[in-house]
Amino acid sequence: MKRYKAYTLRNYMEIPQVQLHLSEEERFALEVVGHVLPFKTNNYVVDQLIDWRKYESDPIYTLTFPQKDMLLPEHFDEMAAAIRSGAGKPEIKLIANKIRLELNPHPAGQLSWNVPSLEGVKLTGVQHKYRETMLFFPSQGQTCHAYCTFCFRWPQFVGMNELKFAMRDTELIIRYLRSRPHITDILFTGGDPLIMKTKVLRTYVESLINARIPNLRSIRFGTKALSYWPQRFTTDEDADGLLRLFEQARDAGIHLAFMAHFNHPNELQSEAVRQAIGRILNAGAVIRTQSPAMRNINDDAAVWARMWQKQVELGCVPYYMFIARDTGAQHYFAISLEKAWNIFRKAYQQVSGIARTVRGPSMSAGPGKVQVIGVSEIAGEKIFVLQFIQARNPDWVSRPFFARYDPDAIWLDGLYPAFGKEKFFFETEYPLPRKATHGQRPATGLNYNAVMN
Ligand SMILES: *Cc1c(COP(=O)(O)O)cnc(C)c1O
Ligand code: SF4
Repeated sequence: MKRYKAYTLRNYMEIPQVQLHLSEEERFALEVVGHVLPFKTNNYVVDQLIDWRKYESDPIYTLTFPQKDMLLPEHFDEMAAAIRSGAGKPEIKLIANKIRLELNPHPAGQLSWNVPSLEGVKLTGVQHKYRETMLFFPSQGQTCHAYCTFCFRWPQFVGMNELKFAMRDTELIIRYLRSRPHITDILFTGGDPLIMKTKVLRTYVESLINARIPNLRSIRFGTKALSYWPQRFTTDEDADGLLRLFEQARDAGIHLAFMAHFNHPNELQSEAVRQAIGRILNAGAVIRTQSPAMRNINDDAAVWARMWQKQVELGCVPYYMFIARDTGAQHYFAISLEKAWNIFRKAYQQVSGIARTVRGPSMSAGPGKVQVIGVSEIAGEKIFVLQFIQARNPDWVSRPFFARYDPDAIWLDGLYPAFGKEKFFFETEYPLPRKATHGQRPATGLNYNAVMN
């Protein structure tokens, strides 16, 4: 098996398929967009996941290769002009950062929201929003084996908010977990925590296991490694050690849960991913799967039905369908809430009950994960029926609520209560900023609190 080789803006011209297929114009567009949004892919993605005969419409190509329309025309032209004129590095960086700030990157406040404290010390690198689950961002796990062009964590990968978001200190985390007995789950996230070497990961996971925290029942990893580098679980030199670590958790009676990020059934076809899934399941872990629904990648019910079906066959459990966030290249990927619901429902209708463990489509918004149950009509008014799957106040979960129907709505902050009401029921505790309409960006970033991975 070949070794991992990353491709970025610096060396993408070494990719044989790029030399062979991409036109001059496409390469230039890649450079232009890649100077604003992060670009990284690797030899496995390039050689095994992308069908280069029709790369222009290939979902995995679109998933990792920047393309012209991923920037708004005025942004594209500005960066293109700078590059054409031979502008120096500092000038390009200045322009890049100016454009980035117009792409609704994580607002400054976001890094400090939902960050808990213990005895007056802030646990930077931890987010605790939903009662039962604590998110942990280990500092060495804040990158990925390739970057998704739609990723809402893009600011982190271009150095806009490095490290403040990560931490190393497991002892503090253990004390925090003990002090909050309703936390049952710790979710390692990133970036991709499984980019970490087993040796590093072990220092975290073993400490957690050895601490025998009675309330800690599940260790979860949010990861895209199965899709972007399945060799992490098969032929990498520390793959066996990683699986042993999973077994250790199981042997200690802790559920090891993989939150695997797959966007398209094409990611489930290679021999490498099948083997990797088999080995993880053998180590006693359960693989649950999640993805946003995105235009130009998977905005098709048949694609989702195939993906869920294939996942079930391989032993994975479909878990969440998300709605794409308002950041970065969102104009390129966004679909309306109604469209997301139609994709979900039509896909759900095509699979048997064992694939209907999936829930969605869901927005990870400020107040919680809001599921679009559907479009309906009550007393002559066309409405969206919604509910929280997760909420900052656990009591909000599973209470249906209603918003005025809007065919163009793409996010919670573009929704208004139905039946002439002024507020949604949860807004007495958590007022929603409502600035967004279709195609416009909201002025606030209250929708950034939760994670995709
Ligand atoms: C999605 C999410 C979790 C995990 O939620 P589950 O529904 O338990 O999978 C935890 N914290 C945050 C902030 C999240 O967005
Ligand atoms: S979506 Fe996940 S795997 Fe993709 S770039 Fe973002 S953090 Fe990495």
